[in-house]
Amino acid sequence: MNPGLYIHVPFCLRKCPYCDFYSESSLAQKKAYLEGVVREMDLVAKDLCVEAPFDTVYFGGGTPSLLKPSEVARLLEAARTRFSFGEDVEVTLEVNPGTVTPTTLAGFKVAGVTRLNIGVQSLDDGTLSFLGRLHSAGDATAALEAARECGFSNIGADLIYGVPGQDLAAVRADVAALLSHAPEHLSCYMLTLESGTPLYARHGNRDFSMPGDTEQGAFFGAVSDTLTENGYLHYEVSNFARGAGFVSRHNTKYWEMATTVGIGPSAHGFYTGGGAREHPVRRWNVAHLGTWLEHLARGERPVEGEEALDREAMMTEALYLGLRRMEGVDLGALSRRFSQDLGWVLSPVVKGFVDEGLMVADREAVRLTRRGFAVADGIVLRLLQAL
Ligand code: SF4
Repeated sequence: MNPGLYIHVPFCLRKCPYCDFYSESSLAQKKAYLEGVVREMDLVAKDLCVEAPFDTVYFGGGTPSLLKPSEVARLLEAARTRFSFGEDVEVTLEVNPGTVTPTTLAGFKVAGVTRLNIGVQSLDDGTLSFLGRLHSAGDATAALEAARECGFSNIGADLIYGVPGQDLAAVRADVAALLSHAPEHLSCYMLTLESGTPLYARHGNRDFSMPGDTEQGAFFGAVSDTLTENGYLHYEVSNFARGAGFVSRHNTKYWEMATTVGIGPSAHGFYTGGGAREHPVRRWNVAHLGTWLEHLARGERPVEGEEALDREAMMTEALYLGLRRMEGVDLGALSRRFSQDLGWVLSPVVKGFVDEGLMVADREAVRLTRRGFAVADGIVLRLLQAL
């Protein structure tokens, strides 16, 4: 599989209380950051050993739409002159409603962005307010409409559900409102409480309660049913596409453990290596803009840590990532790759899940049912314990 390039844009106008991604709320160092990205590309390009050309670029964050179109164009040009790219490149930019106008969106298109991922999260003002988002439902609607009017034909939207105060009808209404914009892709996430965030602390103080397992399962089912009934492919636990042509090419690289180069503070990269390197390596950058810049000023790669994935770790990840996808895991291929008969090892546990209707299995492959998707993490854990 071709490699992909991820660029982390570490700026947000304000920190959302549930978010644990790295970002800074001041744009004062934006110019230094842009120069740093180009410098980091130089350093990465010197060491990089990939056989195929890149076919994706993903601007994630943070809030990449705080960059100007000319700045996005500059980073894309810098990437093109340092790495090899194929003809057909998916270039995704994450957009926060309220940070863009029809003019900036049109500018991103001219800059070379082919796909927008809009952080809608909800089209209900009460839900957005609970999430502490800066934008309103009106801002999100305006961004979705403007994106379409600018000619983007591949628009993704993020949705968060299971927000305290929501019932099943509210979740369904939010999905229906989003569907009226016919996005090509939807990423739907259940709200989770990340340790260390203000929302986590509020929950600890009993300010609100989270939906229980049964309610969460019902929400998940409602989201999946509504979207599949409307022609979307539920191709990964949290991801839906309006047909196979709109599956996220970049995210597929993570699920298939292809090489992804991560640039920017806190960015992660995964290097499958070629022949000479024994184990694939995951590498992550320092999660602090100032420190990241200091490393680059010294001519060093701003890497905070790395982990070589041995056979067991690769097998674990392949199982974990595969079961979260519609296709499931080809146990025959996995057994051959890791020289271990996984079908035989896992069959007693798999049988239990099949009997419960959570999994479908034949001699070669296992995949989760829609009900299984709802409890995917627990199933994967049980399988891993059996290995
Ligand atoms: S805008 Fe996105 S990245 Fe920034 S704080 Fe909010 S959730 Fe996190």
